[in-house]
Amino acid sequence: MAFDLLFVLLRVISWIVFVTQGRYELHETKETKAKDQSPKDHSDLMPKLSIRDLNLKGKRAFIRVDFNVPIKDGSVEDNTRIRAAIPTINYATEQGARVILASHLGRPKGERVEKYSLRPVAEHLSKLIKKPVAFAEDCIGEAARAKVEALKNSDVLLLENLRFHSEEEKNDDGFAEQLASLCDVYVNDAFGAAHRAHASTAAITKFVKQCAAGLLMERELKFLSRVITDPEHPFVAILGGAKVSDKIPVINALMDRKVDKLLIGGAMAYTLLKSEGFTARNSVVENDMLQTATEIKKRAEAEGIELLLPTDHQVVDSYEPIKGQDILAKTIPIEFTKAGHAGMDIGVETVTHFANALKDARTIIWNGPMGVFEEPPFDQGTIGIARAVAEAADRGATVIVGGGDSVAAVTQAGVADRITHISTGGGATLEFLAGEELPGVVALSEK
Ligand code: AMP
Repeated sequence: MAFDLLFVLLRVISWIVFVTQGRYELHETKETKAKDQSPKDHSDLMPKLSIRDLNLKGKRAFIRVDFNVPIKDGSVEDNTRIRAAIPTINYATEQGARVILASHLGRPKGERVEKYSLRPVAEHLSKLIKKPVAFAEDCIGEAARAKVEALKNSDVLLLENLRFHSEEEKNDDGFAEQLASLCDVYVNDAFGAAHRAHASTAAITKFVKQCAAGLLMERELKFLSRVITDPEHPFVAILGGAKVSDKIPVINALMDRKVDKLLIGGAMAYTLLKSEGFTARNSVVENDMLQTATEIKKRAEAEGIELLLPTDHQVVDSYEPIKGQDILAKTIPIEFTKAGHAGMDIGVETVTHFANALKDARTIIWNGPMGVFEEPPFDQGTIGIARAVAEAADRGATVIVGGGDSVAAVTQAGVADRITHISTGGGATLEFLAGEELPGVVALSEK
């Protein structure tokens, strides 16, 4: 009994010491070194035609972009994806192309739904590129054709939401042929949509002779290809988010690629913790994944991969209370989790452990939040990791961040410009890293 008490006391003392030191280390600011942001030449990995291989002068160029951005009260709330497409749009206009932009927005399920109209995006883009952006009320038919015919060299047109037609998601040939009839050349710059075989990413390429990758698409493929083919070691992957089941292919692919360390946070960590006997209480656990979790751990052990899980976490007494209410959260060591507790975020000790594991890293990929990021204060673990990966990038590591919440965290932490590559793809990034072929890339013309 006395021995148990002593153990608990020591654990609490060590946790307090760790957490205080960790706070100091994590808030220390380091000078951001200018670094070479360009990947090694991987033209061999990119046998697909590039927009730079096309003669664009006077040509009608259909550019599939990913303008799936949040819109509130008719205005664009976050323009990250729009800004990401600008190099390609500017390149095409500089080359004298007649630019026809097309995108999906939200899930209108094949019907015209006003709140999913791309019109506000046309206005927003026009301000960003400082030139008029015409808008066609439909992406096919007379409305589109008339606007395309009115284009002069270097003009820009945005078509209405592709998903107002159910044929888009069905990868329908007839619809794709109508889209293709608007253009002379096709460019796909929508990396975030490349994992879906839709009419505007896949079928359309059957009806256009030259189908090339845009500059953003090329950049994404170059960085991600380097990670899966030739990562510099130590190679560390940080995974978080809701479900282990979503990430199994990528975990296995990372192990195949000889990842050195796997740091796992977010709800998915509880399934792994539970599989080793920890009582997750009310935390989110995938009970049907416990066996898989054990296999992941066994494989990591057998292959000498360091698998790091949270050692402390922020808990609440009930999982329900969150939205709009005062939250009584406390940070406790994992083993002190009691009945009723739900784990919502990793604690400061874990952030410090994870940050330490990144100290000598040369390649880091990060996908998924460390906690319930959308509900402060449970964004803090994710923001702590954002700072830690930025510091690793300052030390010269190649850092790739993908997935909505992780990307939002690096922006919120004010470290986005220190990250080597911020991927615009969530699902597409994971599928690519898991070694799967992306239909939107496969469909492009060979060089
Ligand atoms: P994913 O789409 O797999 O990247 O997962 C993102 C979601 O995971 C976010 O909506 C988070 O709220 C959720 N999440 C992360 N950590 C936890 C946690 N400890 N408990 C519940 N949900 C979580």
